[in-house]
Amino acid sequence: MSKLSVVLPAYNEELMVGKACRVLREILSKAGITYELVLVNDGSRDNTWEEIVKAGKKDKNILGVHFSRNFGKESAVFAGMAQATGDVIAVMDCDLQHPPETLVEMYHLWEQGYEVIEGVKKSRGKEGFLHKKSAGFFYGIMSKATKVDMQNASDFKMMDRKAVESILAMPERNMFFRATSSWVGFKTTYVKFEVQEREAGESKWSAWSLVKYAFTNIVAFTTLPLQFVTVGGVLCFIGSLVLIIYSLVQYFSGKAVAGYTTTIMVILLIGSAMMMSLGIIGYYIAKIYEEVKRRPRYIVSKIIRGSEDISNEARHDGV
Ligand code: UDP
Ligand code: MG
Repeated sequence: MSKLSVVLPAYNEELMVGKACRVLREILSKAGITYELVLVNDGSRDNTWEEIVKAGKKDKNILGVHFSRNFGKESAVFAGMAQATGDVIAVMDCDLQHPPETLVEMYHLWEQGYEVIEGVKKSRGKEGFLHKKSAGFFYGIMSKATKVDMQNASDFKMMDRKAVESILAMPERNMFFRATSSWVGFKTTYVKFEVQEREAGESKWSAWSLVKYAFTNIVAFTTLPLQFVTVGGVLCFIGSLVLIIYSLVQYFSGKAVAGYTTTIMVILLIGSAMMMSLGIIGYYIAKIYEEVKRRPRYIVSKIIRGSEDISNEARHDGV
């Protein structure tokens, strides 16, 4: 009998943990699927961990992983996958915005032999204009980098153990999970789902954290921005050539000196282009520095299975 592990990262989700466990248990047991719920408490500042412990007391199929602090969703997903014992592993948000019924559909596709089942958003749900546009821009770059259409990609997916193991074996610390699952390949299919409204609690994403998220992931997945620097340099060079020819013509026709404005403009433009380029390069260097330090992806302080504390027998870091 094969087992499904559902990984649920949770950060300040005290209002949703209990409900998510209840709904998943109901749906999965009704479908006759042997399951395990891996709840990763990503350093929540509310009572999420207490809620996980409470849920564990009621259900021995619950595995709770408690981080020593907040390490971010990608790390939580990673930890959940590392602890999961199932033959097939699903990842979904624990705010139930990913419809749990879709899990059953995904599971049947896995039984049919698919190894990676990607959840694709039917629509992107309610979002502001600016949010939509910037998300569009970000996923545009990511789609180019991954050669997969990412516009409606999500973190809702189910993967065979083989695919999960190959992701776990990757050494990099900054990982963009959404794209990596397609990067590893395997027999893939897609399932459409409608993003649900969040019932309780609030989204953990501020505008600034989204910008940071986009930047980190672009840098983690592609070196394309470094090529922007080269392209920018070439454009600057062409512009300079035009200006040089223009100045020479002015000089020889005796109309020189009046070039103060252009000079200032050229200096400013080139200066800013160089600073931006250096900024991009600097960002990559910073990320390389982070990677070579080989810090663990996360630090676990406690692990429970059902009502039992199994901290001593489990893996503790994301090395
Ligand atoms: N999450 C996490 N660590 C974080 C931020 C979020 O584990 O630092 C979890 C969160 O608990 C939820 C999922 O990631 O299960 C998605 O977060 P959220 O609902 O805030 O994102 P949105 O649905 O608004 O994109
Ligand atoms: Mg959400």
